Amino acid sequence: MIKKILSVFFCFIMCFVFLTAVMAGDNKAERLDTVVNFDGQQLKFTSYDLNGYKYMRICDVAYLLKETPFKYDVEYNTKDKNNMTVILGQGFTPKEGINILANDGEKNPTAKNTKLKINCGNKEYTYNGAVINNQNFIRIRDLSEVVGFKLRWRMYISTLTFNEPVYTLSDFTKNPDDLTSLHQFMTGNYLEFISNKVKDNIKNNDDLQSKLSGKDYSKYIAPFANNYRNFKLTEDSIIFYVDLTKLKIQGWSKIPVSIKYSQLNDFISTNDTVHLSLLMATKEEVNEDSVTNTTIFSNNTVKKTTEYTTETTTSRVDPNKPMVALTFDDGPRKGSTELIVDALKKVDGRATFFVVGTMVEQYPELVKSAVEAGCQIGNHTYSHANLKKLSDYGVKTQVNKCSNLVYDAAGVYPMIGRPPYGSINQTVRNSVSIPWFNWNVDTLDWKNRNADYVYNYVINNVKDGQVILMHDLHPTTAQAMVKAIPKLHEMGYQLVTIDEMAKVKGGYENIPGYVK
Ligand code: ZN
Repeated sequence: MIKKILSVFFCFIMCFVFLTAVMAGDNKAERLDTVVNFDGQQLKFTSYDLNGYKYMRICDVAYLLKETPFKYDVEYNTKDKNNMTVILGQGFTPKEGINILANDGEKNPTAKNTKLKINCGNKEYTYNGAVINNQNFIRIRDLSEVVGFKLRWRMYISTLTFNEPVYTLSDFTKNPDDLTSLHQFMTGNYLEFISNKVKDNIKNNDDLQSKLSGKDYSKYIAPFANNYRNFKLTEDSIIFYVDLTKLKIQGWSKIPVSIKYSQLNDFISTNDTVHLSLLMATKEEVNEDSVTNTTIFSNNTVKKTTEYTTETTTSRVDPNKPMVALTFDDGPRKGSTELIVDALKKVDGRATFFVVGTMVEQYPELVKSAVEAGCQIGNHTYSHANLKKLSDYGVKTQVNKCSNLVYDAAGVYPMIGRPPYGSINQTVRNSVSIPWFNWNVDTLDWKNRNADYVYNYVINNVKDGQVILMHDLHPTTAQAMVKAIPKLHEMGYQLVTIDEMAKVKGGYENIPGYVK
């Protein structure tokens, strides 16, 4: 009985303590070590996450606003910490009024509520700010309301970017020629957005719509990097050339779809690879009303600007002679991949490497030399993920990340894929519509890491038209290939890539291992 009374009493005390804390507005904040990428400079300062919102110290804000080319002048008086006046191009800020940016403070301090007042032009704003370590913090979202430009956290939690809506080419890059791939300047779910735009355009074009009726064009416009690799940057838009050549519709082979930068604003990245000249635009230049959302759509013949091809010449492949497609997964790997590529070069042979993104990150040069040797690169996801276990978005991310890394390494996109563990279903195929390939001969080289075993297995089991699975991740496999490749050549086998075999056999569908 006494126990019961005590526990009720204890609960009561706890509730009281909890309520007092809530009513006083005390909250635990979490320090974020923040870096502002600021027109070439990197500035470090202290910011906090409080209940999911990002807060900056008001004196840091004052400093940054003053330093932007927007020429905000900021009056910030250290004695009256709750007031700040922001004036465009007119104010005066005494230097001593603004603290030097620091990246310090407690990791999890307590934050108290406070009211902050900001004057800007004729407007007066009052916000709920926070006092942390005796200094005033403002919610970044509130600040952007005052100064009228997009100020937001993107890419990484620790990177804050001052981001003006992008309306012209010069807003986001001075060197459009340097940008040859979308991922160099776009971020987030941009492929999905572009793909939906293209879909809308097709729906709104009666002529094209009628020509396309009954044809399955979904895979050519799916949100996959390969489908949007041909584009042109104009002053205010990006024009995509969607390739419908394979559908053989007269007058509609490459269709241009133009999207204004302003519509892509959420997806244009402002990370280090892109010059942040957007900070240079004056506020007057940015007028939401003047932006039109028209999208050009025509069947005129267009000049191709950026063209990449992974197609290899087939003249060297004789359809009447035996051939075999050696495929190597999970690489590239230093000490292995180059042995295989060298052995292939000596007999004018080629193979297909289904690479993993994380390995490409480590050894981009190996991908490049394989491509230079005429080999084909296939997509084996970014981190060897079991695609069947992922969401639609997860599948796309895995595949696109790997694609982009291959492009960075070798200037080509992988046009085919192999699902890790051979694990694939309809959801995966709907998510990423590239041809997927498994194999019809499994050497089990990953299990039997013995060069003689792998050599004997390949030589004793080889037959015309096979797709043989191996892993260049294992040095034993590479050692086996140093002997097996010249031997296969001697036996009269042509060593071909998946694409080369597909051309000779009349399509991917006729290749063993093709995932239907
Ligand atoms: Zn694998």
